[in-house]
Amino acid sequence: MKVWLEGRVVDGAEARVPVTDHGLLYGDGVFEGIRAYGRRVFRLDTHLERLAVSAAAIGLEIPGGLAHVRGVVLETLRALGADDGYVRLVITRGSGPLGVDPTTCSEPRLLCIADQVQLYDAERARRGLDLVTVSVRRPAPDVLDPRVKSLNYLNSALAKLEARRRGADEALILNAAGAIAEASVANVFVARGGVLRTPPASDGALEGVTRDSVLRLAGGLGIEAREQTLTRVDLLGADEAFLTGTGVRIVPIRSLDGARLRGAVPGPLTEKLTAAFADYARSEGVPF
Ligand code: PMP
Repeated sequence: MKVWLEGRVVDGAEARVPVTDHGLLYGDGVFEGIRAYGRRVFRLDTHLERLAVSAAAIGLEIPGGLAHVRGVVLETLRALGADDGYVRLVITRGSGPLGVDPTTCSEPRLLCIADQVQLYDAERARRGLDLVTVSVRRPAPDVLDPRVKSLNYLNSALAKLEARRRGADEALILNAAGAIAEASVANVFVARGGVLRTPPASDGALEGVTRDSVLRLAGGLGIEAREQTLTRVDLLGADEAFLTGTGVRIVPIRSLDGARLRGAVPGPLTEKLTAAFADYARSEGVPF
């Protein structure tokens, strides 16, 4: 692992952040998870744009500006020295006295971690994930807007914890109205009758970069795809379903709450989109 911190890249084991950082004390900050494939950073500017929106939404200035942060990502990946990698880009409120008041923090802190990541083992991803509907709900936008990729991931962490305790791989998280929001760190897609559907951001989904890539690729493949409010019934009745995310990429869903989905795992649309995504990931991106 390599980490960019305070102007230089160090080994992961050497990177230190003060305990007074409000990112640690209060989860006050924003982040991005980004992948590199074949020495190119996949959709880097889309991630940076989302980071800028998240930062603006919580009144956080981007240290050095977005162009500087872009350079930091490339520098950290060069230091990692691998063709493929995963980048965790973090901006915290910075160090300050105890007490939640963000105005007491002197300056935001930028850090960038480059490493490898694997969220599910290959065998589990191949056979499809078992999901359970968890009791934890996604907060409403006026509580904590799920479109802001903030360091507040307790909601996702508790959803994942509940899913793991119940013997499942992953959590299906609903919003307060009982509609599907997303999984702990991934978006949900269902397909029925050849039509692909995913919940809109207004139902509590992050506007995932992988989700956006899949919607675009579907268009190019002539697969009808739309954003639509979905419930558990849409998942249980789906011909096929999958999760998308930078970490998970595209991974099929096998079951929900102990019930097997109806179709093959992976289904034909999932296979097509997985292949198209792999091609796209190898051809798109900012070289480093
Ligand atoms: N939802 C949440 C809550 C996430 O943390 C992530 C991972 N960033 C996603 C969805 C998937 O988004 P992306 O495809 O941009 O990684």
